[in-house]
Amino acid sequence: MERQRGDGMTMVATSRLGEARHFGAHAPEIEERLALLAEASRVLADASLEPPAVMERLCGLVVPLLGTACALRLLSEDGLWLRTVASASSAPESRARFQALISQRMRADEGLAAEVLDTGEAQGVEAVLVLPLRARGHAMGTLTVWRDAPEPGDSEPFDPGEHLLLQELADRAAMALDVARAYAAERQARQAAEVAAGRLARLQHVTAELSEALTATRVAEVVLEQGLAVADATGGGLWLVDPDTARVTLLRCAGCTPDAEERLRRVPLTEEAPAARCLRELRPVWLERGDALEGMRKPALSSACLPLVVDGRALGALVFAFSMPHGFDEDERAFLQLVAHHAAQALSRARLLEGEQRARAALREAHQTLEAIIQASPAAIMLLDPDGTVRLWNPAAERMLGWTAEEVMGKVLPAVPPEHWDAFRHSLERATRGTVLDGAPLAGRRRDGSAVQMAVWTGRVHPANGPPQCLSMMVDITERQRGEAAQRFLAEAGGVLAGSLEEEETLERVAHLAVPAYAETCGVFLEDESGAVRCVATAGASEASEVPPPGLLVVTRVIQSGRPETRSGLSDADPTSACAGGTFAYLCVPLQVRGHTLGALTFVTSKRAYDAQDLSLAQELARRAALALDNASLYRDARQAIRLREEFLSIASHELKTPISALVLQVQSLMAGLARSGAQFDPERLRRGLERVDRQVKRQTLLVNDLLDVSRLSAGKLELVLVPLELGALVREVAERFEPEFARSGTPLELSLAPEVRGQWDRLRLDQVLTNLMSNALKYGRGNPVRVELEVTEGRARLRVKDGGIGIAREHLPRLFHRFERAVSERNYGGFGLGLWIARQIVEAMGGFIEVDSVLGEGSTFRVDLPRG
Ligand code: ADP
Repeated sequence: MERQRGDGMTMVATSRLGEARHFGAHAPEIEERLALLAEASRVLADASLEPPAVMERLCGLVVPLLGTACALRLLSEDGLWLRTVASASSAPESRARFQALISQRMRADEGLAAEVLDTGEAQGVEAVLVLPLRARGHAMGTLTVWRDAPEPGDSEPFDPGEHLLLQELADRAAMALDVARAYAAERQARQAAEVAAGRLARLQHVTAELSEALTATRVAEVVLEQGLAVADATGGGLWLVDPDTARVTLLRCAGCTPDAEERLRRVPLTEEAPAARCLRELRPVWLERGDALEGMRKPALSSACLPLVVDGRALGALVFAFSMPHGFDEDERAFLQLVAHHAAQALSRARLLEGEQRARAALREAHQTLEAIIQASPAAIMLLDPDGTVRLWNPAAERMLGWTAEEVMGKVLPAVPPEHWDAFRHSLERATRGTVLDGAPLAGRRRDGSAVQMAVWTGRVHPANGPPQCLSMMVDITERQRGEAAQRFLAEAGGVLAGSLEEEETLERVAHLAVPAYAETCGVFLEDESGAVRCVATAGASEASEVPPPGLLVVTRVIQSGRPETRSGLSDADPTSACAGGTFAYLCVPLQVRGHTLGALTFVTSKRAYDAQDLSLAQELARRAALALDNASLYRDARQAIRLREEFLSIASHELKTPISALVLQVQSLMAGLARSGAQFDPERLRRGLERVDRQVKRQTLLVNDLLDVSRLSAGKLELVLVPLELGALVREVAERFEPEFARSGTPLELSLAPEVRGQWDRLRLDQVLTNLMSNALKYGRGNPVRVELEVTEGRARLRVKDGGIGIAREHLPRLFHRFERAVSERNYGGFGLGLWIARQIVEAMGGFIEVDSVLGEGSTFRVDLPRG
């Protein structure tokens, strides 16, 4: 270091020079000065002392040896002021005076100091010597030495040697100070570097953590847990901008009171809150004094509010709060902004990631939904290449057609039979070109070889890679088509069955309806009144044979049980085996109406199996056929009833009129005889005449009684009066009553009566039954003997009335006991056709039955069987 030690250094004596010590160039003085210099060097080199202490010690060396007081002043940074950093004074009495002088802060650019500093030369004014402190050509301050003013005539208060010495001391002090300053600056720089390095390390840590934060919440967590520590902040918060609502929402805060957290949760962007402000202005807001932030647990006396900006877009705001007033230097500002920058980047990344995850989840969900739809679809869904190769096959397709996905994927669709293949492929190609099939029918086959009718819908699909494909949806409409065909069939059957009320015709039509659509052979079987089952109509292959399969045994069983019987006739393995070995499938269903089984209907085929749908179709046909049969029979009955009624009316008028005419004639003849003969009228003739009148009246009465009985019985008003009765006696009584008539017609009457046939019966009603049977035997007996027999068993009485008369034709027998039924013409035989009906009602009311055996032209036997009550 070049030191300027000017020769022109001036020493100015003051007016008061005290006991100044003069250092001349005498040897002891030189030694003393050298010792002083050595001591000064030692003090200045003492590294254990801080610069102020060094300066104090230096001043202590100067006083009292070289002056009575000494002050070391340093320039302020702006170079305007000199500040006393060390001082010393020897005499206690002058200390106070100097003290005031020393402690003064003085302008550096005025007076002696300015001159000294400007010129770099020491200036002595009176007994004060001010020396420059210079190092590396720069003025640092001054060393001021006071000495009592010399006596007038004395030499200069500071001799050149002293001057030189003091300047040497000042130079050494300046150099030491410079070194100390350099050292301090270097230490400060090192400390700053250490702080910066520490921050950098911590920032790296935060950055590392942020780089792993996958969600905005995690970003906030890292920033507020790690970031606060890094920034030495005591609290803070991270808000996110909600672009929809133009406000910021608190994501997380640290060091806040719950109240403040709640209050700060949503902050409109328009508010004065620092978080909102920094976002509005898109630049950090540094609050260095007490108005920084409210609501912090430790009062925040300063805070930094940093916008989190990525690509010019504000994502949120980050606030650090500090419990001390805080001047944010450039480094710290840059550092906090760096933290904010990394936080913003992490936030943006997290948002992107969240967005991507949401999109992926939505995609996954959409995919799963689509997959679930395909899996759950009741319709078969398949994706086919234009050449028919299967690329997708859902469970419904497997259920419908029988092939599993593994079996068909990558292979050509096996469900289309060869004869339809060309047409199908053509439609596939058209579909992949965009033509849509909308429920088109397709005849396919299942894995088991059975036929399936499908409705097909198609649509074109463009896969990400590769040529367009055809999406096909297929629905099995086999059953629906069968159902529709069955409905059509039944509708047709309804029409056919309604077309005729003739029983036979109806049956024939029924049989022919089912052939060939549902059966090769169809038979209609009826049970007659005797319980015999016979085939009344057939259609199909076995029309020639009398009884078509499955034969009378099965049919009788079905009629008796009223339940259908079926045989599929097929093995599962081979549906065509129905034909094999003469096996066949059949359905036999009862013809039932109003709770009665009339007969049965049979369907037989060797071509296929019958299933439940066939069975229900046959049952429905049988139900309708039975109804038609019933209608035909009711129609026949109604016609018969009408015919009988008309017949009855003509007979009734004839029957009622004939006795009346005879009666009128008889009475008129008697009255004429009486008029002619007066008292001489032959009493015998009168008796015979009156007897004839009596017979006619009785006959009339019987006829009227019959009519009364009919109306009574029809109304269900037959009341029995059961009394103990000996039946033989009653038979004899009735026979006696008939005796004259039998005699008159010359009909022999034989009685063969078991004795004591007793029971509880209605006497008058049984009389009526006997009268009817005996009068019929007389009427239709052609004069041949009539025999009445009476037998008795344990609990029953049996009466037989036998005649050898005209007999009854076989076809009339079933209806003989019906109302108005007659087996003869009214021209030959009178009668209402009511007697047997009434007799049956009476006998059945008493718990018995009446029946007839008869051979036309040979005679009849009527049997009455009665419980003995
Ligand atoms: P009717 O008053 O016509 O005799 P019934 O009910 O007594 O009425 O008899 C019904 C029909 O039964 C008769 O019209 C007749 O054709 C037949 N009939 C009844 N009894 C005999 C019999 N003993 N021999 C032959 N036919 C008979």
